[in-house]
Amino acid sequence: MDTKIAQLLDGKALSERIQAELSERIQGLQLRIGRPPGLAVLMVGDNPASAAYVRGKERACTKVGIASFGQHLPAHTTQSELQQAIQLLNQDERVDGILVQLPLPDHLDAVSLLHQIEPDKDADGLHPVNLGRLVRGEPGLRSCTPAGVMRLLQEYQIQLQGKQAVVVGRSILVGKPLALMLLEADATVIIAHSRSHNLQAITKSADILITAIGRPAFITAQMVKLGAVVVDVGINRITDSMGKSRLVGDVDFDSVQDVAKFITPVPGGIGPMTVAMLLQNTVSSYSQRQSEAPIAP
Ligand code: NDP
Repeated sequence: MDTKIAQLLDGKALSERIQAELSERIQGLQLRIGRPPGLAVLMVGDNPASAAYVRGKERACTKVGIASFGQHLPAHTTQSELQQAIQLLNQDERVDGILVQLPLPDHLDAVSLLHQIEPDKDADGLHPVNLGRLVRGEPGLRSCTPAGVMRLLQEYQIQLQGKQAVVVGRSILVGKPLALMLLEADATVIIAHSRSHNLQAITKSADILITAIGRPAFITAQMVKLGAVVVDVGINRITDSMGKSRLVGDVDFDSVQDVAKFITPVPGGIGPMTVAMLLQNTVSSYSQRQSEAPIAP
């Protein structure tokens, strides 16, 4: 067996490069437009993981020169209060992107809230209009995590045309839009999920294997084809044998790196790419709202 260790697909480094480019672009546009781009992240309740993600997004905004209009609302916020907050942001000329941080507390209906966001301010690309544009292959705001996967594959010149791509996970947030993007790139796409029979045979057939499951170290070396490209979207917090808490992906990195040709680390893979695509979507809406050409993906 080939014992070469896989090359890392470094999402952190690429995300930093994209952010530096966006920062320069914003400086240029701001002179003409007279205001910075604006992003509003709405968070409800005190989910610690969500709070950390929101802080990360706001830090990234500050770094590139995007103004934050985020609101942290109490856990007992009602559906109509949140709808009203979204309506105000829809009308606010300083705001180019709106994002509702998921998951929401159980009493709130996330889907109907996503419908309230003005599609051209839908920084997360989850509004049905933007998902419809994706299905039809039309330009539009794309979901950040799948767009981040595609951008990272493109950066490393991973050939997709005609290749077998397997996506494990079928959520509307990751798996489904990602499968459509891979299809648009002319890959032959299989979507696997918790009801798929003989998962190992499916994952092992993949030239490109992408996992968005939410189960720590679920994908082992036996499930991966020699020389495959492995992209790990999963983010799972585990407590190791020393009692220390850390983040791991869906892929058993240590064993799979001996089989794969390329692999993403967790952290430092798709997480930072998701943030970069969120900023890019915001800047794209900003420039488009000022009747300028959008940033090329
Ligand atoms: P969901 O829970 O919405 O979806 C999980 C998917 O995995 C489902 O389609 C489920 O199948 C499938 N699945 C679960 N168990 C198995 C199994 N044993 N075998 C095969 N398929 C399985 O999660 P998300 O899509 O929201 O997120 C997935 C992971 O990605 C999480 O770890 C999340 O934290 C991470 N994530 C990371 C992001 C990033 O920026 N890097 C952004 C978003 C998410 P079924 O439909 O049949 O139930």
